[in-house]
Amino acid sequence: LILLASMVLGPASAASQGSNVAAAFRAAHEAQVLSELAGFLAIPNVASDAANIAKNASALGAMLAFRGFPATQLVAKGAPPAITARWTVPGATRTLVLYAHYDGQPADPAKWKVTQPWRPLYFTRAVERGGRRAQFPVAGQRADSEARIYARGASDDKGGVMAILTALDALRVAGKTPTSNVILFFEGEEEAGSPHLPEVLHSDSAGLKADAWVFVDGPVHQSGAKEVLFGVRGDMHIDVTTYGANRPLHSGHYGNWAPNPAEQLARLLTTMKDSTGRVTIAGWYDDVTPLGQAERAANADLAAYDTMVARELGIGRPYAVAPSLAEAIELPSLNINGIASADVGAQARNVIPTTATVALDVRLVLGNDHDRMFQKLVEHVRRQGYLVLDRAPTDSERLAHPLIATVVQRAGSYDASRTPMDLPLAQSVVQALRATTPGPVMQLPTSGGSLPLIYLTDILHVPTLMVPIANYDNNQHAEDENLRIGNFWSGVESIVAILSMH
Ligand SMILES: [Zn+2]
Repeated sequence: LILLASMVLGPASAASQGSNVAAAFRAAHEAQVLSELAGFLAIPNVASDAANIAKNASALGAMLAFRGFPATQLVAKGAPPAITARWTVPGATRTLVLYAHYDGQPADPAKWKVTQPWRPLYFTRAVERGGRRAQFPVAGQRADSEARIYARGASDDKGGVMAILTALDALRVAGKTPTSNVILFFEGEEEAGSPHLPEVLHSDSAGLKADAWVFVDGPVHQSGAKEVLFGVRGDMHIDVTTYGANRPLHSGHYGNWAPNPAEQLARLLTTMKDSTGRVTIAGWYDDVTPLGQAERAANADLAAYDTMVARELGIGRPYAVAPSLAEAIELPSLNINGIASADVGAQARNVIPTTATVALDVRLVLGNDHDRMFQKLVEHVRRQGYLVLDRAPTDSERLAHPLIATVVQRAGSYDASRTPMDLPLAQSVVQALRATTPGPVMQLPTSGGSLPLIYLTDILHVPTLMVPIANYDNNQHAEDENLRIGNFWSGVESIVAILSMH
């Protein structure tokens, strides 16, 4: 079939050669690849678990050394090391960094049903679709593309690490060299929020300079199509607390007289947003960098999927902040993560609470500065008549001010970043992926999620692209995380194509 395709299409493009390279390698080495992945998945990989993280780092170092790539550990004090290696290609004028992370989200074994987090098991397909447990393929056997490996990190993101290594193996076995110099960068604390990434990048900013960083992480589009993401939103968390009396009061003796902080907070929150979901804080949308032509066109294409997504999620009427999900993602959001004030359910008592607290999550887009957005929210709270503090009020402040709010921005905020879609290198990547699939390649100007890619643009001044490979129904971050085998190989094919593009 492959031969036939190249006869029909004429001389194969670099990228469709990429598909052949990946398919040939899969045919000959599938069992070996999946077994190496399973061994890697068996090592617990929570970033805070220093002893096991060290085992992961040395296992990864050995996997690279076995392939003839000496690994370097970039270490920030007290943090899991980033593992790097490079393939320098004589004559190559371009350098790409391939990124994946080897740490995973913490896991509660009690919640896992299909397997235990670090006991990788092989199933003939998704368990909820009738998959049965089976043995991993042995040498000479092939895996079905619908088969899945269940384990923490299978898809997020040890599967990504393994797909990158496998793409390099496939190229070498085919006697090919990449068309770019390749730097591998495997992070060990992505799921902990990458607190040491700036320090790690600064420690070798010359060595990590490249024409682009390609992130192999996260799930592909809900439609199953291949996907390139050009940007991510920034993130900021804010806690707001309102105050009633200085101790809990009997609601019979004091109700109708003592102010209730939960009511105050509810009223305050409804001044921040209208019923269509639009944020009504002054200037909230003012700093947004307008989208270019390519970005607007890509978002218009994506709107076709909204009805399907809304139906699957049981949403009768989405918010009307923007005409579509993709366009809504291009605006800063203000979301209530949770509210707490005294107790409910069986614990509910006849009290007037002393405080009410809301955890707010603000997703930021290009043009937003997180401190400036925080000030807009603080000003808004002030305009509602509140004394705004960054700590709990004193007794005299309580007596002097009827309305008091503590408004605090939690540590760890960062801004959005976005690579222009018309950047030639970005379009070369899209073209490379197009040649590997008869289906569309989804192009998302901005992912709804957040990653601190701004560190890369700020510190290394390098554009970033995301080429996710995992199945969208991978239970990422949850129990029974899994990787669909077909997605793994499709990812290998994508990486081979990117490393073969001219
Ligand atoms: Zn990830």
